[in-house]
Amino acid sequence: MKGSVPEGFCGLRAVRWNRKKRGNALTDFSKEYRMKYDFHTHTVYSHGFPIPHGKGTVESNVAAAEKAGLEAIAIADHGFGHMFYGIRRGLVASERAEIEAAQAAHPSVRVYMSVEANIIEIGDNLDLTHEEAGQFDFLIAGFHYGAWNCHGVSNWLCDKHITTPRLRERLRDRNTAMIIGALRNYDIKILTHPGDKCPVDMAAIAKVCAETDTLMELNMSHLHLTVEELKIAAKEDVRFIIGSDAHTSDRVGDYVNGLERAEAAGVDFQRIVNIEKR
Ligand SMILES: [Zn+2]
Ligand SMILES: [Zn+2]
Repeated sequence: MKGSVPEGFCGLRAVRWNRKKRGNALTDFSKEYRMKYDFHTHTVYSHGFPIPHGKGTVESNVAAAEKAGLEAIAIADHGFGHMFYGIRRGLVASERAEIEAAQAAHPSVRVYMSVEANIIEIGDNLDLTHEEAGQFDFLIAGFHYGAWNCHGVSNWLCDKHITTPRLRERLRDRNTAMIIGALRNYDIKILTHPGDKCPVDMAAIAKVCAETDTLMELNMSHLHLTVEELKIAAKEDVRFIIGSDAHTSDRVGDYVNGLERAEAAGVDFQRIVNIEKR
């Protein structure tokens, strides 16, 4: 797949070029490859106010996974420390009960209970204790503006280019350090949407993901890793995963654009753990 994009074409330009070249790339990739499992989906437990941030239920997400032919799904609602969308600690047991009920109703799909923990600057760099982490089958984690103690406002301003080069540089170092801290302090299966919402040293993060065997996500809702970020990350011995980050059940199992980005970046699809040839 390497060399399929003309010199000078990068990012979304490369993705669009590939699409144009193939005529209907979406159909092509969905015919050639399938997604085996989707470990990044949200439900109404990502609560929000006044309306839930996640729109699907555990049952509707699992039913959608079965319909999409997935072997497994993880329900991974936002972590406790998210001011607006985090799952409430008191509701973890009822989410587990719903997951068990959905598992019984859909035996062809393995259903896991995860949480998308928030990466923060204090403590061990995640918004849950190690004991709380044990309540989940595995952890996934990412950076979100809405968590406490993560320079949310500075990062948001930086994302809107309301900053100076010097401040951006300093923020990038702090973000990189807190992400690396989380990767080293916890057993994180997936680093979600790396590079989204905050500047980071992608090469340094990819190196630690490789060391800790953490999968780097090609996120379908936030479009990070981007093509350029993928090119940097792929230089390290790291593996990737596509995550739908579905906030509605009809998005469970989305993966095609992730393959388009991987192709544009020249990444071997065999490095994407949850994709296989049909
Ligand atoms: Zn996220
Ligand atoms: Zn998410």
